[in-house]
Amino acid sequence: MGEVVLKIKKGVDVSVFDDGNKKKSYIISFEERHWKVSKLVYYIFVSIDKKGTITAIKENLEKEYAIEIDNQKLEQIIDIAFIKNGLLEGTTAADFRKRNKLLWGRITLLPSSIVNRFKMFSFLFHKKCMIYTGIIIFLWIAYIFYNYSNRELVSALFSMEIKDLVICYAYVFIGGIIHEFGHSMATMAYDGKPGRIGMGIYIIMPVLFSDVTDTWRLKRIQRMVVDIGGVYLQGVFLVVSFIINVFWLNNDLLNIAILISGFQILGNLNPFIKMDGYWLLVDFLGVTEIKEVLFHTWSNLLYKAIGKPQKYACLDKDKLKVIYIYSVFILFFYLYFIKFFTNSLILAIQTVIHDGKKVWEVGLTGIHFTFESGIQHFSTRITTFIVLLFLVRMIWSILIRMKINDRIKIWRRGDK
Ligand SMILES: [Zn+2]
Repeated sequence: MGEVVLKIKKGVDVSVFDDGNKKKSYIISFEERHWKVSKLVYYIFVSIDKKGTITAIKENLEKEYAIEIDNQKLEQIIDIAFIKNGLLEGTTAADFRKRNKLLWGRITLLPSSIVNRFKMFSFLFHKKCMIYTGIIIFLWIAYIFYNYSNRELVSALFSMEIKDLVICYAYVFIGGIIHEFGHSMATMAYDGKPGRIGMGIYIIMPVLFSDVTDTWRLKRIQRMVVDIGGVYLQGVFLVVSFIINVFWLNNDLLNIAILISGFQILGNLNPFIKMDGYWLLVDFLGVTEIKEVLFHTWSNLLYKAIGKPQKYACLDKDKLKVIYIYSVFILFFYLYFIKFFTNSLILAIQTVIHDGKKVWEVGLTGIHFTFESGIQHFSTRITTFIVLLFLVRMIWSILIRMKINDRIKIWRRGDK
């Protein structure tokens, strides 16, 4: 029987990855997924690309890199790193639900060709400019955080007229787009290619996003600049608007809009959801995902506790401290989120029952909407819709997963 020739899928890419450690590591990218891999896996990648059969790959590793490895170990690595992740021709990822699970329903607002035209503003991301401006923004955020509360703003929003509300949201939306441009411009400042800017739903919240996949190639510190680039540029926009408003316009409505956008910045730095704060931490730690680091760190501790050798590579002391603090906080965060989601779900179900009852009582033609009440109802209906859609997606993905597992089992059985 002839040996199987392995072939890496088109679009799978590998590059050096700066994780802040002395030992070199690499990153494999494919369809918006990224795997941090060791030198050995990188060499295997290159050898598969060059040769294809297990025997030839083994020979290549010995000849080019002086690495001796037995067939079984080699096949095992190829299985874990390449086959299970669906990187070889004819394979599909066993766990594809990982991809974009939380950010869904995406649409493009600005294609990368347009984003690219704003490269001239990347001077804003020069080191000195960033440090001085950053300090001003930081002080300003501290000032508004000290002087205003989120609750005040929400009640101000609720008492607004529809026209004002629309203007307010429009300003916040523009602030959001500028935020996304911040990530793209920072990427361009380091000669990375920016991707599109778009809109999507993060779990159950509508969000804007910018595709900055290309940043994985950048140095660790540069990636961190890209992570805060959004908040930074949004901050520049807000501080400038604030100054103009305080000295010339004195407009209450604009003031509220600026403050809302400012509070949004704080929410964005929350490291427990995959927003800017999270990615900042990811890049500080030099990893591709925090979940994995948490798992490794706590497994290591467990192994240590039962007197066995640690299974995973250890982070250095400073990074470890950060992980411990993070672990404690994320526990509370999840509890809070579960409570929040349950409440939203209950509210959503109540809304559906309420609407159903109303239609039942008076019929579809019996419902009369004024423009004002229409808008008022619209926002609760849209939240209801998103929450329920998320629930359906969650159930669906669990069903799909069960089906895939079934298939894998059957395939394994047939294989033997
Ligand atoms: Zn951002």
